[in-house]
Amino acid sequence: MTLPSRVPVLIVGGGPVGLTLAALLARYGIASLTLEADDSYCSGSRAICISRRSQEILSWTGADAALTATGLPWTGGRSYYRDREVLRFDMPHDPLQRFAPMVNIQQYFVEEYAHQAMLRQPGRATLQWAARAVAVRPEADGVRVEADLDGQRRTIQADWLVACDGGRSSVREALGLKLEGMQYEGRYVIVDIEQASSRPVERLAWFDPPSNPGSTLLMHRQPGNVWRVDYQIRDDEDAAEAVKPGNVLPRVQSHLDMIGETAPWKPLWISLYNAKCLTLERYRHGRVLFAGDAAHLVPIFGVRGLNSGLDDAGNLAWKLAWVLRGQAQPDLLDSYSDERVHATRQNLAYGAKSTEFMAPPDYGFRLMREAALRLALTDEHVRPLINPRQSAPIAYPGSLLNLADGAPRQSPGAAPGQPAPDLLLADADMAPCYLSACFGQGFVLLACAPDTAQAQRLRALAGATRTAPDPLRLLPVGGAAPDAWGDPHGHLRDRFGARPGSVYLLRPDGYVLGRWDHPDDCILRAALAPYYPMIPATAPEPHA
Ligand SMILES: Cc1cc2nc3c(=O)[nH]c(=O)nc-3n(C[C@H](O)[C@H](O)[C@H](O)COP(=O)(O)OP(=O)(O)OC[C@H]3O[C@@H](n4cnc5c(N)ncnc54)[C@H](O)[C@@H]3O)c2cc1C
Repeated sequence: MTLPSRVPVLIVGGGPVGLTLAALLARYGIASLTLEADDSYCSGSRAICISRRSQEILSWTGADAALTATGLPWTGGRSYYRDREVLRFDMPHDPLQRFAPMVNIQQYFVEEYAHQAMLRQPGRATLQWAARAVAVRPEADGVRVEADLDGQRRTIQADWLVACDGGRSSVREALGLKLEGMQYEGRYVIVDIEQASSRPVERLAWFDPPSNPGSTLLMHRQPGNVWRVDYQIRDDEDAAEAVKPGNVLPRVQSHLDMIGETAPWKPLWISLYNAKCLTLERYRHGRVLFAGDAAHLVPIFGVRGLNSGLDDAGNLAWKLAWVLRGQAQPDLLDSYSDERVHATRQNLAYGAKSTEFMAPPDYGFRLMREAALRLALTDEHVRPLINPRQSAPIAYPGSLLNLADGAPRQSPGAAPGQPAPDLLLADADMAPCYLSACFGQGFVLLACAPDTAQAQRLRALAGATRTAPDPLRLLPVGGAAPDAWGDPHGHLRDRFGARPGSVYLLRPDGYVLGRWDHPDDCILRAALAPYYPMIPATAPEPHA
């Protein structure tokens, strides 16, 4: 086995986050080596619900086609209290959107598709199976890692190391870092079963169902006639006993009987879960960065674990690429930590609320849940309280990267630090195109109906970056420019609050960096110069 002895980026952990990061970096032309301790993709009950934002991030690598072909899209769900429906919810969705709000798909497929995407990218990305990082030594200009491959030791020198080695991260341990936070006592048995069914794909929850009195039970359909069944066990139940098939199968059977699923079935995996709300205080430690479960553990309720890990990868990939290419200073990577720690804290707050509902930690929470469920039977105003709050991208309103808001009267949903709302536009040939498909490359300058002079000035700015590896992309929408895209659904006006002359600078990960009404060149140059050094912050002096 030949492994490179020096790499720009070493990724420890080839789970979904490590592999997606490798694919994104390769898309930016950045070589990486991923060490994965196991010899194949994950098995067992892991993530199944992949959010719209995660689908977008995977699309930047080209992994979305396989994901969409295999995954089961869904838009809502139902909750029952005992034998009565108390909530029917729909996630924000309209048929013009590029991706479903959520698809159900087993985590090992996500890993496989990210891996295939990584191999298709032009940058050199290598995955080494059965290779475990066993020692990590941070150095002034990089990181030195000892890896174990089939009992043989290898030393690898990396400019940057990204720890994607999961909840029990050995990199975290090697650096003497600890996750901080709390974990809940309530335990859930997680069972994946195989059973043919024609039931629609939706999130199903039962509180105190006749099939399992006193318990809470969740069901999610997955590709290949697989169902995820999660149910809460009593506090006094013994963990080892609770996962024995002799105890699990009758409870599952009782529920299948209750909902009228009569086809033969068999269990695939049985495990036990309890929710944790834990995070590192910082995700950058010199030249070591943390992403995914190595950085944070978020409760599964609300499905923000893998989804937030993919957001970590989307945030980190462009920043690492810009730093490695010398297009930005290394302190850009501090913003990765600031932004993603902020996102984790938000995710933990949502995750904690969901957990307190799904596995009430004490008598007070149990009583409140009981009251909410009883009231929800008759009072529709109470029903939002039991909505499961599924994963959504988190805004970074306090990010130091954000530029002063030059158009504060426009839509707050497109202010600096917000994830740019997606737009269904029509390109110059009238073919439908999504704004989100433009991300994962260079920055985007989105211009609303620029007049001829403004379009010319913006084009000159974009043209100045054409020698950069990922140049600035000008996207004029409406107006006089011959290459302008159309906005047949009025999305730019409605979702951004754009007016003719408005300009938006969007980051490669799809976040709004700045917005202005009729910005002059000085403003735009100053905004772009930190990322495109060929653009001087001030315009050249006019000739005398
Ligand atoms: C029952 C369950 C249901 C879930 N459902 C959802 C869901 O629906 N949606 C969601 O978003 N999240 C969900 N999650 C969370 C999700 O599974 C995790 O957040 C996700 O696996 C994190 O990915 P990762 O790549 O960071 O870490 P992992 O998936 O843990 O991958 C880490 C990898 O690092 C490798 N590794 C470890 N140590 C080393 C080492 N020293 N050297 C080399 N390799 C190493 C491991 O072998 C592993 O492959 C669920 C989790 C569980 C348990």
